[in-house]
Amino acid sequence: MRKTLLITGASAGIGAATARLAAERGYDLALNYRSDHAGASAVTEAAQAAGAQVVLCQGDVAEPDDIARIYAQVDEAFPRLDGLVNNAGIVDMTAKVTNLTHDRLRRMFDINVIGAILVAKEAVLRMQAHGNGGSIVNISSAAARLGSANQYVDYAASKAAIDIFTKGLSDEVAADNIRVNAIRPGLIETDIHAKGGEPGRAKRLSHMVPMKRTGSAQEVADAVLYLLSDQASYVTGTCLDVSGGR
Ligand code: NAP
Repeated sequence: MRKTLLITGASAGIGAATARLAAERGYDLALNYRSDHAGASAVTEAAQAAGAQVVLCQGDVAEPDDIARIYAQVDEAFPRLDGLVNNAGIVDMTAKVTNLTHDRLRRMFDINVIGAILVAKEAVLRMQAHGNGGSIVNISSAAARLGSANQYVDYAASKAAIDIFTKGLSDEVAADNIRVNAIRPGLIETDIHAKGGEPGRAKRLSHMVPMKRTGSAQEVADAVLYLLSDQASYVTGTCLDVSGGR
């Protein structure tokens, strides 16, 4: 039987690469996106060509009603949910802490933290109900360790929250055979840097990486698929750095 997987933020970057690889590895997919319908459609077509059943779930993870709608679609498409990649996330323009506003902080934490926790909550409820366990992979960031001074400390703080949420949730659900892990990507070539106002950011900072290069979304997807798989059957509560040594 094919396993089922929900990926949030699957229309671009790491989520899209993960969706493509998961389809090749035999998962059926619920793919969430917020606004990039063309990107999400292209990922859907690629996943279907690889043999996956796909349900496309538009919705903003910062909106509780949207999360309910996403899961209603998941429940209708799949009798059972085996995995979640909690990937949807944003950065913002480079700014010092002294320039951060309440609106910006609310948006950052609504999407990166509260949305991720509520999406994980709904996945856990389903995995506990069917009783066959599951695997959740939260996408954190190396920023959670580094702090991102003079760039976006708010983003770093939101990802540090994801790291400790991963540990706490993993302890709560370990006895249900639900594994919860996080990945901390480093400088990965995706459009997130352009969306944060600096398209060349990853390349500009790559000299700080011990491996002296940026990473690809594919390299992160490989690590996600490992944590989802039975090869990681005794791995829970951990944060895996995919960051070239940084
Ligand atoms: P990306 O290319 O900008 O893709 C972000 C994805 O998240 C898109 O599919 C976007 O959907 C979706 N998204 C954003 N806000 C959303 C919301 N409110 N509700 C639902 N979906 C939403 O970014 P990426 O680089 O792949 O980043 C993916 C994850 O990796 C993020 O959590 C990010 O923080 C983390 N990360 C990235 C890097 C890096 O260097 N790239 C490093 C460390 C961690 P739409 O476009 O359809 O709105």
